[in-house]
Amino acid sequence: MDIASRITALKSSLPKGVRLVAVSKTQPPDRIMEAYRTGHRIYGENKAQEMVNKHAQLPDDIEWHFIGHLQTNKVAMIAPMVQMVHSIDSLKLLRIINREAEKSARIIRCLLQFHIATEESKFGLDMEEARVILTSAEYHFFNNIVISGVMGMATYTDDQSRVREEFRTLRNCFEALKQEFFQNDPEFRECSMGMTGDYRIAVEEGATIIRIGSLIFGERNY
Ligand SMILES: *Cc1c(COP(=O)(O)O)cnc(C)c1O
Repeated sequence: MDIASRITALKSSLPKGVRLVAVSKTQPPDRIMEAYRTGHRIYGENKAQEMVNKHAQLPDDIEWHFIGHLQTNKVAMIAPMVQMVHSIDSLKLLRIINREAEKSARIIRCLLQFHIATEESKFGLDMEEARVILTSAEYHFFNNIVISGVMGMATYTDDQSRVREEFRTLRNCFEALKQEFFQNDPEFRECSMGMTGDYRIAVEEGATIIRIGSLIFGERNY
């Protein structure tokens, strides 16, 4: 199967209400265009410079999502084009995204990334850290960001029950934050979880956004 068939098959298999971020990191523009021509518009990158380059070469109606760890000194580069940053792991990052979004006269959607895996290496917040951000005085003055939900990555393992448990934990964090901070805010609605290896479980556990690379584009050669 080619890219167009794979992305079409994947999308038609998803329940309504689950959106796909096609993870295009390391893929050249011509391969992204193969997916684009099927009508798909949402693409995810994890390197700021790569997003900037591809944005310059590809159609303007692509919705760019930043899905990797974002260093504060890279925010200015992507602020003019990024629609959603999935990887908020500090108040400082949020502050800088807000500042740069303001300079571009834009609103940038942001997801709080939670550390749900048992692996040490994965970035993210716990509930207490999320509460500290959302109750901070300055958060209420951020007019150019919208907190749209949560994101997380499960442990890379064959143990499906563990993966399921981790996604359930993320969904519970989402529900708890919704209850505590966003009850009357329809913008807070996203649970970004699930990649090629585990997206079916993520969808069963309440994902609203899945982030899929290799299933669409094939194995990446770095
Ligand atoms: C690369 C990446 C993905 C997609 O991974 P695949 O296994 O290729 O689907 C999803 N989320 C993040 C944060 C990634 O870095």
